Amino acid sequence: MTEDRVYNFSAGPSILPEEVLRRAKAEIMNYHGSGMSVMEMSHRSPVFSEIFQDTKAKLRSLLRVPETHEILFLQGGATLQFAAIPMNLMEGGTADYAVTGNFSKKAAKEAEKYGTVHIAYDTGDTGHDRIPTQEELQLSPEAKYFYYCANNTIYGTEWQYVPETKAPLVCDMSSDILSRPVEVSRFGLIYAGAQKNMAPAGLTVVIVDKALAGRELPFTPQIMSYETMIQNDSLLNTPPCWCIYMLSLVLDWLKEQGGVEGMEQLKRERAKRLYDCLEESRLFRLHAQPGSRSDMNVTFRTGDADLDAAFIRYAAEKGLVNLKGHKVAGGMRASLYNAMPMEGVDALVNTIKEFERKHV
Ligand SMILES: *Cc1c(COP(=O)(O)O)cnc(C)c1O
Repeated sequence: MTEDRVYNFSAGPSILPEEVLRRAKAEIMNYHGSGMSVMEMSHRSPVFSEIFQDTKAKLRSLLRVPETHEILFLQGGATLQFAAIPMNLMEGGTADYAVTGNFSKKAAKEAEKYGTVHIAYDTGDTGHDRIPTQEELQLSPEAKYFYYCANNTIYGTEWQYVPETKAPLVCDMSSDILSRPVEVSRFGLIYAGAQKNMAPAGLTVVIVDKALAGRELPFTPQIMSYETMIQNDSLLNTPPCWCIYMLSLVLDWLKEQGGVEGMEQLKRERAKRLYDCLEESRLFRLHAQPGSRSDMNVTFRTGDADLDAAFIRYAAEKGLVNLKGHKVAGGMRASLYNAMPMEGVDALVNTIKEFERKHV
């Protein structure tokens, strides 16, 4: 790591690979002889069109997105999709929602405006510390889709399986997309805000089965219609050009690291090192239950808010920053996204051990 940089454990916007930042820096004034920055380019120019198509193709190849599915580059964050999904797919009927954290809860609440939300399971009773089993899911026969959030960024839990449902699967993968292979054909729709594990904030990637498009409620804004966006190849209006360019650099980097299979091995190793340390700890305890733990966001606490704050300060002094948990969860959270170097994890493990020696 470059000397003046910190290990950034933020949940999002979050760490980007240094190699990517360096390449963006090198190209910032004059992109490939165009005499201008990607930030200054028309989204209809041939130079940008090439970046756009190339980024889509790279994502399709890395995630093995079948031709049945379209890749859309949208804006409005993951949160806009909380509304776009029911507007496009619910047809005013019923949809099943698994509530396993804050974001799926918000998505379910938003969907209530457009149809009937059936809660297939809610882990709220135990502070969202686990993922329901397949057997626990209560599926309604008439559901237009089954909605879940693959990785709960705030509580630090992650689905270890893809649910079996009759209805198409709709999945928020904002915080674990590109961290492992995904069988895209099993999903009706996958979406992710880019700012966790892909690119800077401002881009939302939607991967949608084209067969599901074209059923939107009549009042759906054009900009939120999957059908319209598919027909316009996401270029109905100005897309987030710079973010798409940054995603293309991240995808190049990712491919060099062994693609999503490489990322999966690395994420397992990062998470194992930190979980092993916290399992052994006499000061810290983990929030998420075994079998439901996220490889991407590790949540832990001492049980004493002052001591938690002292740890967060202690780590920050050592250049390990943004370890404070989300306000609804408290405690600490270490986000271990694709771009987090193993040395960052080792530095955190050492810091936890040092702090523990001083306080137990
Ligand atoms: C961050 C996050 C969101 C919200 O993303 P925005 O882009 O801020 O709307 C939704 N879902 C998950 C899983 C997230 O991590």
